[in-house]
Amino acid sequence: MGDDRTDGGSPFHPGEKEVQERLGVRDIEDWARKVVRPFMPDQQRDFHRSLPFIIAAALDDQGWPWATLLTGPEGFITSPDDRTLVMHGLNPELGPLEDRLRTGAHIGLLGIELATRRRNRINGRVREHAQDSLTFEVDQAFGNCPQYIREREWIRIDDPPVATADTYHRLTPEQCDWIASADTFFIASGYLGDRESSIHGMDVSHRGGEPGFVQVIDDTRIRFPDFAGNNHFNTLGNIVRNPRVGFLFIDFPTGSLLQLSGRASIDWDSEEVARNPGARRMIGFEIDQVCERTAAVPLRWEACANFVRSLRLVEKIAESSEITSFVFEARDGAPLPSFDAGQHLPIELDVPGNDGAVRRTYSLSGPPSTARYRISVKRESMGIASRHLHDELEVGAMVDARAPAGEDLMLPCVQCPIALVSAGVGITPMLSLLHALAEEDGERPVWFIHGARDSAHHAFAKEARGLAAGRKNIQLHLSYSRPEPGDRLGVDFNNAGRVNGQLVTQIVNALDAHYMLCGPIGFMAGIQSALERSGVTADRIHLESFGPKG
Ligand SMILES: Cc1cc2nc3c(=O)[nH]c(=O)nc-3n(C[C@H](O)[C@H](O)[C@H](O)COP(=O)(O)OP(=O)(O)OC[C@H]3O[C@@H](n4cnc5c(N)ncnc54)[C@H](O)[C@@H]3O)c2cc1C
Repeated sequence: MGDDRTDGGSPFHPGEKEVQERLGVRDIEDWARKVVRPFMPDQQRDFHRSLPFIIAAALDDQGWPWATLLTGPEGFITSPDDRTLVMHGLNPELGPLEDRLRTGAHIGLLGIELATRRRNRINGRVREHAQDSLTFEVDQAFGNCPQYIREREWIRIDDPPVATADTYHRLTPEQCDWIASADTFFIASGYLGDRESSIHGMDVSHRGGEPGFVQVIDDTRIRFPDFAGNNHFNTLGNIVRNPRVGFLFIDFPTGSLLQLSGRASIDWDSEEVARNPGARRMIGFEIDQVCERTAAVPLRWEACANFVRSLRLVEKIAESSEITSFVFEARDGAPLPSFDAGQHLPIELDVPGNDGAVRRTYSLSGPPSTARYRISVKRESMGIASRHLHDELEVGAMVDARAPAGEDLMLPCVQCPIALVSAGVGITPMLSLLHALAEEDGERPVWFIHGARDSAHHAFAKEARGLAAGRKNIQLHLSYSRPEPGDRLGVDFNNAGRVNGQLVTQIVNALDAHYMLCGPIGFMAGIQSALERSGVTADRIHLESFGPKG
């Protein structure tokens, strides 16, 4: 990252490293060094400029963290350069952070678009503030995956009622109900360390689940399950160094906010963790202060219930020893909304033993021109959704899905050469892209480079060969890391070993190529570094992460 205010280039502070070490995921660092950046790429700047609101975390004068929602008139966020966001015409901040977002203050920001489930986190500080504007300077910026975000559409209301703010030290019964029915909240945490380093600062993170996932124990204590995430452990890493945190609940239909501040504790592995399906840990919270702000913002949200569509499983096809494809059609036979190659499908599964729907996202692996959705899923030995799909779901079963989403792997240009580079189950979006590229009339060069362990683990071998057959512009390259004795070099695979940056740069010989990468995070981080070293600019490298394991 080349930022001398970081710890030897690490984007993590000692608390985050401690949690990663404790949970055996310290190798996340290789990936994070690539994706946590001291600036915002153009895509992130455009995203923030389009937002009607942004979630923020900061400290009050006594050092308690609070999360809040900042909003202003349409287009209130601008970005004059890749390290700066300016917010103009800010709505009055009547709550505990009134007058606290001042010059020098550490702030964590989360830009989130609930309708498309996109989000970006940025941490930094206020460079300058005026009465209703704020200039924010980035220390760290990175995108998050769409897991667990409940889709909502927003509207701006013209004549909002007068906002009020009341403070308490305990929850009222109405506030307990508010929390117990929430499916979304935001948590502010921070570890300021020596205050000067960019790895120290405030963070705000989104948490989502089924209504009831935040449990009210009594009027001063709540707890919530910590589900599998990106393994950065920013919030938990802050908590182990500084247990003070803030919560923000939004009453979406009324634009009211419930802000809590207090102390968090982590239950790493008690029976309570086992009682909560999908929970890896439970986070407890002891309330110190409560602020309820009615009609705090002139925005209102509606759940996008109409986006949910019931799909019928019409085919289940084993693609390799671990990966199975699931092909869906609309339950009512109506045409399905079209999708672009590289997009993914958010689905909801009813898995026995789990309260409410289990939500997961799977890349669409089939050709974008068909009226069917195909996803291809690797069975994870402990995974809730993938085991259910593989072991329980049979043809005829119904699954709820939302509209296909995601832009990270959509084809970036109409004529440029494209390298599709994947490992393991990361092949799924690449196959859809290969279908789209094979359907084109043009002659742009396409490389399909894939790594699998051996032929038994190699999904879609025949399909990819069929797409490349007879098309001179498409070249396939297959690497097997541990070929079986029956696997034929030159027939089943082109080389023994892993796909790495050196191999990719050797195979792809076009200076203007765009690279689409999907696979385990270490795989992508290594290739990205090699490409950058060989002079490929960051805007020509496009990545999709399926989560820490890839
Ligand atoms: C944009 C996007 C696209 C994706 N596309 C695909 C795709 O095309 N194909 C695909 O297969 N996946 C894809 N994924 C990943 C997918 O969404 C799921 O995360 C994946 O299937 C695992 O879900 P699960 O419910 O089976 O596992 P979870 O229950 O969520 O568990 C996650 C991981 O933790 C492990 N685990 C669970 N419990 C424990 C425990 N107690 N101790 C230790 N380890 C444990 C599981 O084995 C698993 O590896 C995609 C993800 C994203 C964000």
